[in-house]
Parts: sequence; structure tokens; C-alpha cells
Amino acid sequence: MRTKPNIWFFLLPLLLGSCQKEDIPAPGQVDAELASYLEDFIIEGEARGYQPVIDPGILDIRFDTLTGAVTGQCLTYSDGRREIKVSTSFWANAAAFDKEFLLFHELGHCLLDREHLDTQRADGTCLSMMHSGQGRCRNTYGASTRTRYLDELFQAD
Ligand SMILES: [Zn+2]
Repeated sequence: MRTKPNIWFFLLPLLLGSCQKEDIPAPGQVDAELASYLEDFIIEGEARGYQPVIDPGILDIRFDTLTGAVTGQCLTYSDGRREIKVSTSFWANAAAFDKEFLLFHELGHCLLDREHLDTQRADGTCLSMMHSGQGRCRNTYGASTRTRYLDELFQAD
């Protein structure tokens, strides 16, 4: 059974990140336009008692041209460094909460070592902002749900 398509079924496949190993690239940095998202992520985590699993100092965050409909990726390199790539074309047209969702989702992979979680709540919405985008849950990340999703994101388990 398929639920009626809506905008999220269009958007969600674009939100897929992937974790894969690649050859070691040249050292990078955090793009200035994306730095505030890393800061917010750490602030929101600290407010919830989060201690980083991965040292943010080994993480690079930058824009890139990603293939297909991928909007963000968390990459882990063989020397332990990590990198988040954000689709330049996605960013140009994304709404504020969609940008934050993408960054926080990828930071969930890269700094919290979280994997995808596609669990649905009773109302069909996603339990976690770490959903894959390929599951059936509906993403509702926004002003009224942000706190709940961030509580779940930083929940120690
Ligand atoms: Zn992901």
C-alpha cells in the first residue's frame, strides 16, 4: 500500500546521505556559510548533555556538486577524518529548516556516529531526523517539531 504522494516524497530522496570510504583528500575546512550550523549543532547538543563522540576538529564541511538527487553526504576516510558534502544546487533553493535538517542529519552521522532510523510514529511521521529518506515515515522537521527531533537526535543510547 502506498500513501498519497506529497512534497516530502519528492524531497526525501534528495536528503539521502551515505557513509562510504574513499581515498584521503587534501585537508579542508568548514565553509563559512555552513559554520553556524556546526556551532548550533554543538550548542544544542551541549544543552542536552551531549559529549562529542567524534572530535569536530577532524571534520570538514563544504559545498560540492553531488551526483543525482543526493543533497548531503557524510564521508569517513581511512585516516579517521570525516567530511560532510552539501549539494550546492540543493542549498541554493532550500528553505531554512530544510538546510538545518540536512546539516544536522549529516552531523548525526559524522559526529554522533548515528545510523539511519526509519521508525514511524503512530501518526506516520518519522521518529527520528536520522531517517533514511527511503523509509515510509513522513518528515515533519520544522518550528513545532524541532525540539522533539533534536531531543531524539542527541539521546544517548
Ligand atoms: Zn543519512
